Amino acid sequence: MLYISTRGQATPLGFKEAVLSGLASDGGLYIPKNYPLFSEEEIRSLEGLDYVNLAFNVMRKFIGPEISDPELFQTINTSYGSFGKGNFCPTLSIDNNEYLLELYHGPTLAFKDFAMQFIGNLFELFLSKESKRLTIVTATSGDTGSAAVEAFKGKQQVDLYVLFPEGRISDMQRLQITTSKDSNIFPIAIRGDFDDCQRMVKELFGDEVFRNEVHLSAVNSINWARILAQTVYYFKSTFSIVSYRDGVNFSVPTGNFGDIYAGYVAKKIGLPINKLIIASNQNDILQRTLKTGVYDKKNVTATIAPSMDIQVSSNFERLLFDLFEGDQIEVCRLMNELFKNNLFKLNDKSLKNFRKNFYGGSGNDQELREEISFFYKNFNKIICPHTAAGTRVARQYLKKSPETPMISLATAHPSKFNDVIDKVLDLQVEIPSRLKRLLDLEENFDVLTDDVEQLKQVILDGKLS
Ligand SMILES: *Cc1c(COP(=O)(O)O)cnc(C)c1O
Repeated sequence: MLYISTRGQATPLGFKEAVLSGLASDGGLYIPKNYPLFSEEEIRSLEGLDYVNLAFNVMRKFIGPEISDPELFQTINTSYGSFGKGNFCPTLSIDNNEYLLELYHGPTLAFKDFAMQFIGNLFELFLSKESKRLTIVTATSGDTGSAAVEAFKGKQQVDLYVLFPEGRISDMQRLQITTSKDSNIFPIAIRGDFDDCQRMVKELFGDEVFRNEVHLSAVNSINWARILAQTVYYFKSTFSIVSYRDGVNFSVPTGNFGDIYAGYVAKKIGLPINKLIIASNQNDILQRTLKTGVYDKKNVTATIAPSMDIQVSSNFERLLFDLFEGDQIEVCRLMNELFKNNLFKLNDKSLKNFRKNFYGGSGNDQELREEISFFYKNFNKIICPHTAAGTRVARQYLKKSPETPMISLATAHPSKFNDVIDKVLDLQVEIPSRLKRLLDLEENFDVLTDDVEQLKQVILDGKLS
């Protein structure tokens, strides 16, 4: 299986190289040259599988001979072994045709674990066959960083740098990133917002000498392996709906467009998904794009759903490739426009393509708080602020389309945002022991400005010591 860059200037790579490099050398994102397609019969044959076997059967089709079947199975099995016993991704029935897919039963209590545990073990498998040591630099709006620390701590051939926006993630998220004692983990608070952190990572990749010197890699959702791992729970959840063959809808709290893009891939390869609903907080660039066709970058606003405080949704570039029917020159041109003018326009055809598969809606902080209260009062269930953005829009869409089951993704455990939840519901949300024990640990992290040259120096100095 070959992977090509959305921008068409980088050499196509196999699965292993595409995953290890993260971002393509032309600045684009890797996507499969050809997608596998599951027939209806094949889809039916996956219905009864447990999570590990389902993941194996879905992912195998995207991976070439670089990984043997037993190696792949083992990697997947180890990854989901860390999720504990029992059903770790339950789809709960909430109301008439309204469902909630809980994705927060992994080690760091957010859906990021599903992909990050897998990628941690996948990197270990790849690197065990060479003597290389990788430097992974990841930007985080909160949950990616903690999931990455958990997945890579103690791994022999990886140094992990986590860039998080200073003061803009929750206390629990910060503690998860900064309290690891492992010598291969380097948390850095950046004086800026998430988009600054993400830009710095992209700039590191833009410096070819530096990139080669430190063997730079990325595990942000621009990494194809993360998207791939996330497609699996769309299958699992869809199969839990009895009437799924007539189609289901998913509502997905969205920031970097990674999670929802995984749902789009699931649809593309044959899973009967009708609409994918892009749910945003006040940072609603994708909603404006759906409405007007103009992707227009504004400043990031800090909200109570910090993991979605993003204006440049990196994975949207993957969708653009499809919206423009694989025209890489056009994708290149649009990304250049965005870089130069902070905006680009979709043409009529591509906007129509966008609206065919996607619908959207956003909520401001007040509306998210009201949704958290509504959910608690009506269904006796506590949801996190990101999840609330999704369930709010899901209910609006259910009114338009009551016949189709609607599954909302619950992306993080509410206790990760206990500062918000406790005030809204006037209670103390129960904190799982995994989080509670962090409160007593010492934090360690550096603080840097958003100057990328300084960051390079810190990483190079780390290599020397
Ligand atoms: C990362 C995250 C999101 C957004 O996911 P994307 O893949 O960036 O769109 C939503 N909710 C939570 C809790 C997250 O951690």
